[in-house]
Amino acid sequence: MIELLKKTASEQSKALKNKEISAVELTKAALDRINDLDEKLGAFNSLTENTALETAKKVDDKIAKGEELPLLAGIPLALKDNMNLVGSKTTASSKILENFVSPFNATVTEKLLNNLVPIVGKANLDEFAMGSSNENSAFKKVHNPWDLNKVPGGSSGGSAASVSSCEATLALGSDTGGSIRLPASFCGIVGMKPTYGRVSRYGLIAFASSLDQIGPFARSVEDAANLLEVIAGHDPKDSTSLNMPVEHYADFLKNDIKGKKVGIIKELMGDGNSPEVAKAVENAIETYKKLGCEVKEISLKHIKYSIGIYYILATAECSSNLARFDGVRYGYRTPDAKNLMEMYTKTRAEGFGPEVKRRIMLGTYALSAGYYDAYYKKAQQMRALVTQDFVNAFNEVDVLISPTCPNSAFELGAKASDPLAMYLTDIATIGCNLAGIPGISVPAGFDNSGMPIGLQILAPQFEEGRLFNFAYQFEQANDFWTKIANI
Ligand code: GLN
Repeated sequence: MIELLKKTASEQSKALKNKEISAVELTKAALDRINDLDEKLGAFNSLTENTALETAKKVDDKIAKGEELPLLAGIPLALKDNMNLVGSKTTASSKILENFVSPFNATVTEKLLNNLVPIVGKANLDEFAMGSSNENSAFKKVHNPWDLNKVPGGSSGGSAASVSSCEATLALGSDTGGSIRLPASFCGIVGMKPTYGRVSRYGLIAFASSLDQIGPFARSVEDAANLLEVIAGHDPKDSTSLNMPVEHYADFLKNDIKGKKVGIIKELMGDGNSPEVAKAVENAIETYKKLGCEVKEISLKHIKYSIGIYYILATAECSSNLARFDGVRYGYRTPDAKNLMEMYTKTRAEGFGPEVKRRIMLGTYALSAGYYDAYYKKAQQMRALVTQDFVNAFNEVDVLISPTCPNSAFELGAKASDPLAMYLTDIATIGCNLAGIPGISVPAGFDNSGMPIGLQILAPQFEEGRLFNFAYQFEQANDFWTKIANI
């Protein structure tokens, strides 16, 4: 059974249609693997066995009747625990929501259920999606399936580790500054952030609303493309969602990229990269050249400011978004408060972890009278310049490439007490969120100790098809993606 769990979603779909296995058997196999492995990995906050098995049963009924199956029907999926699924706990890995049971479904959840995708559990994350290593979960750390002493990356570390270890075939994550692409690169799988607005944020616990976007994790580009098709689309419940048709992204994969132009982001190719990461990008350049592309260097002058811009805008937005967690209507409430003010302060002091508090304080400071012009307004102006750099770049090239991260996964604890070192992990991924463009991380090699390395590819807004096309061509020209963590 483990062999089947190691297959891609496309292969599993075929096995279901050919009746080599039933959907209930496949879902049970995934749940068994989680029960066997997850004590070591910590990828799941909770399991949703009943929903998963009910959904799988519906798939088997359809197969028995000879009915057509929707895309990805019967394929086990892990949902990041900041997305709502009715009747399940949605904790955002925070003590403040430890016992919160979702009263409604996120739009992505509705879409998954409509397509009969069994949701096997809620994946661990950094508290409120704030972090790069998944060490900020209030409950437990996630371990990297390639080396249990290393971090899986964050904030969607549970989602990435579950797919990398074949506990699930697919997962959803959210990406505000790299939280899908970074853990995908650390765990040796594919992770994609769509254009801002492509996927509805309704029912996703908000971190920084102008940057947050939900996207797919998978072990192949084709599977990621299909999962995006399932979850994408306009939603009247999210006013920032795009009113544009959803494409069948898999149609783009095999397009010839001969003669197309690939830009290497100059500022992300410097000394900061580990030698193995630099070598992996060199290999990517050679791969694209062999595929007939013209490769040239592109300068994005303002990208070096992206971390500074992000830590003003994202913290400002989160200080406002997290104001709702005050113990009044839902979530944790302190048991011993003498008056209303004390109830608010104690609830928040006891309910939030240190990183979340740091962000709220930074954001509140940036928005306070007298500092607004110096910080928030300036950061917004700089965001426009970063975005313009990308627009200019895409007048010259079809896609941009860079490392997803300057290094591979680090040891648990290595950066936990140094928030600035942790923030720098996202140097290559944040620009994509600031500009609202789609980005993907694909397996691109291994370092000397066998840890995976990711290649980041970026495309212009709305060009998910092009992004998947370039990612697939790179993937298929190498065999990195076929390697699976030995756990
Ligand atoms: N690591 C970044 C942060 O800590 C990005 C997180 C994310 O994309 N959710 O904010």
